[in-house]
Amino acid sequence: MNKPINQSGWKPGTPVASDGSAHPTVTGNKALMLEEPLIFESGGADICGVDLPETPTDLPSRLGAFARKDAIGLPGLSEPQTVRHYTRLSRQNYGIDLGFFPLGSCTMKHNPRLNEKVARMPGFADVHPMQPTDTVQGALGVMNELAHWLITLTGMHGVAMSPKAGAHGELCGILCIRAALEARGDARKVVLVPESAHGTNPATAAFAGYSTEDIPATAEGRVDLEALKARLGPDVAAVMITNPNTCGLFERDLKEISDAVHAAGGFVYCDGANFNAIMGRVKPGDLGVDAMHINLHKTFSTPHGGGGPGSGPVVLSEALSPFGPLPFTAKTADGYVHLVEEENAQEYDHVQAFGRMTAFHGQMGMFTRALTYILSHGADGLRQAAGDAVLNANYILRQLESDLDAPFAASGPCMHEALFSDAGFAEGFSTLDLAKGLIDEGFHPMTVYFPLVVHGAMLVEPTETEAKSGIDQFIMAMRSLAERAKAGDAALKSAPHHAPRARLDEAQAARNPRLTWSAPDET
Ligand SMILES: *Cc1c(COP(=O)(O)O)cnc(C)c1O
Repeated sequence: MNKPINQSGWKPGTPVASDGSAHPTVTGNKALMLEEPLIFESGGADICGVDLPETPTDLPSRLGAFARKDAIGLPGLSEPQTVRHYTRLSRQNYGIDLGFFPLGSCTMKHNPRLNEKVARMPGFADVHPMQPTDTVQGALGVMNELAHWLITLTGMHGVAMSPKAGAHGELCGILCIRAALEARGDARKVVLVPESAHGTNPATAAFAGYSTEDIPATAEGRVDLEALKARLGPDVAAVMITNPNTCGLFERDLKEISDAVHAAGGFVYCDGANFNAIMGRVKPGDLGVDAMHINLHKTFSTPHGGGGPGSGPVVLSEALSPFGPLPFTAKTADGYVHLVEEENAQEYDHVQAFGRMTAFHGQMGMFTRALTYILSHGADGLRQAAGDAVLNANYILRQLESDLDAPFAASGPCMHEALFSDAGFAEGFSTLDLAKGLIDEGFHPMTVYFPLVVHGAMLVEPTETEAKSGIDQFIMAMRSLAERAKAGDAALKSAPHHAPRARLDEAQAARNPRLTWSAPDET
């Protein structure tokens, strides 16, 4: 058995640079980028970072019964070692504050620091959901004000603020539709989902007990209106349309689709996760939408990714508002929006709520960030943010359409994201190779292999907050990588070469993760 030589188990002389560097170091470190073992490997369990009193040996037997008999197995490190461990790991992390993050559909835009300042105000940050209502009037005021602006921006009637992510909002909207159908004794069973919709849409419908059916996309990348109309009927509960859709295109026929769906007795769900492309320009309410979630963590900033936090308020039409879950915020006869909860549901005539989505009110920290973002931008600023996002994406689309296959380049301007495919790459070269090459060039890869309507899809969303110089550098990298993929440059197949680790076997890592370290030649 090979004993690890240093704490990370790396052996001197072993090339660690992922390109099999000809200049290995004895430490395994690469300049000031340090090799980092797992925290459980750095320091023995017999070491303790703090001075604790000896465990008394004469514990009364009733306590002794609870005393731990075996080692707990915590990593033993001093405070500076611990601080360094996490600081080193953080230096290997990549985020929007470090560089360009063109992840399509995810809207990784800059998060203004003003939002953070406001969210950290103790009156918001320390608020507890069980506090008496009269002590949280300011927080409730923030929610009401945000609700007002979401209703105004979308041209809808009411909003359920509590859902905690886009997909959670989808479920909320579909449950509203189900409640509305049940209230009229109409048990429809089918939800139609166009091919250009986001993958969460069919998952949501299935989770809510519906069977889903695909509606094809046209060669242009939009919903096939005729196919959709032909499928409508008394069994169709709803149509779920992502707008802008996942091909990065605006669904121009949405009003016509809504009219047809309504005439057939169904409801229109719009996936509004990409509302950042159209805010201040289009009101989904004007297009006949009945329910739409808004990803506050995309459109209205808030750092996200890596699992949270998210917030997915759902705006509802007048037809669906009565079924919105509690707490619910809606326009009432006096023209103002009011927060309706169990106590005042009678007063505001909101007695058909389908239930609740969460125990409390939702993500306070995101409500404060979103409202700060909205108020600091103002109507003209939000409009411009949407316009700039669209301009940046179109710039990328037009700059790269002759280097990469852009399947919908002829469908007119794109919205906030540009879509490319792997058509034209040399035999054996794929989107994955280009994406890995992008890491070497210092960019987080774009969204890959989504949407499914395009082979080897690459979905690039620059967002409105990137400067032209940064986008130009990205375009330069993409051109070079496209050329290498088309020419079949063998080095691209094993990229990344400059990352802390070379290309990982992702399937193996997902199916058979090795969560503790052991010497490579032992396994
Ligand atoms: C991000 C996204 C979702 C899901 O939102 P989550 O907050 O991740 O649950 C749904 N639809 C579209 C189009 C999205 O971009």
